[in-house]
Amino acid sequence: MVQIKQKCSRCKVNYVTTSTRSRNFYPVCYECEKKSMEGEIADPEMKKLLDIPEEMYKESSFLRSIKINCIRYGKLSENQINAFKKIIADMQARKDAPAEELKLEDGTKNLIQEAKTAKRKKKNRIRALGTVR
Ligand SMILES: [Zn+2]
Repeated sequence: MVQIKQKCSRCKVNYVTTSTRSRNFYPVCYECEKKSMEGEIADPEMKKLLDIPEEMYKESSFLRSIKINCIRYGKLSENQINAFKKIIADMQARKDAPAEELKLEDGTKNLIQEAKTAKRKKKNRIRALGTVR
């Protein structure tokens, strides 16, 4: 996944980091979206899901868009929930950060664990190939 930087389409000052996979033609930076992310989430399940460190929202415009959607419409679709968890799992696996320290809901934690295991397996496989003569 390649990270690209685009200028915020609203303030035209800050840059937004997106991946080529989720390329957005009207990217909006964290500062500009902050206000839209301040609404109340009534559904306790959604509230728990979206209760992730603010740093993650700063890092991912995709996570921000999911939260804004939830505030606007009061709920998320199954696909949006899964995509949200998957992005967090990818981010955590990439950083190798301990998921236990985050107060994430269990489904997300499991996905992080899976992503980390997959990463470790891949590393081992490369190492094993390196020893074959
Ligand atoms: Zn902006």
